[in-house]
Amino acid sequence: MEKVYEVVGVCPSCGEKTFKVEMFRYELPVEGPVILFVGRCERCGARTSDTIPLATSGEREATYEVPHDLHRIVYLPPNTEVSVPELGIEMRLTRAFMGRITTVEGILRMMQDDVKDKKVSEMIEDAIAGKRRVRVFLRNEDGMIREIRPRV
Ligand SMILES: [Zn+2]
Repeated sequence: MEKVYEVVGVCPSCGEKTFKVEMFRYELPVEGPVILFVGRCERCGARTSDTIPLATSGEREATYEVPHDLHRIVYLPPNTEVSVPELGIEMRLTRAFMGRITTVEGILRMMQDDVKDKKVSEMIEDAIAGKRRVRVFLRNEDGMIREIRPRV
C-alpha cells in the first residue's frame, strides 16, 4: 500500500483545522487499483474512510457555493474540468495529474496559480474572503469526484 498524499483540513464536525486525511493507493485482486482515504480529527475524533475504484463508473459532477462550502474536503481526480462561471475561468486537469485531496479553497488557489491574471486573482481572493459569491463547478467523466465527510 503506497501513501500518495496527505492533507490537514478543517474538521466538518468541530470546525477546527485538525482533520487529517491520508490517501493510499493499492491493488485489489479482482477490482484492480483503488484509492483509499482515511481521515481522522485529532481534536474531536471524527473519522471517515472510503475507497474509490479507479475504473470508470460514469460521469459525475459537483457544485460548491463559495464562501459557504470553502472548507469542504474534496478528492480531485485526474481528468477533471474545474470552472468558476461567475469569473469566466476554467482549468483542465489532465490524466497525468496525480489526483489530490484538497478543500474548495485549495481548488480556488490552484486556479489562481493556473490563471496568472492579477484581476482574476483578486476576484478569487475576494471570494475566499467572503466578499464575492461564486460557484466552483467540477466535472469528471470517470465519476471519481468524492467529498470526504467524517462519521462522528
Ligand atoms: Zn473535529
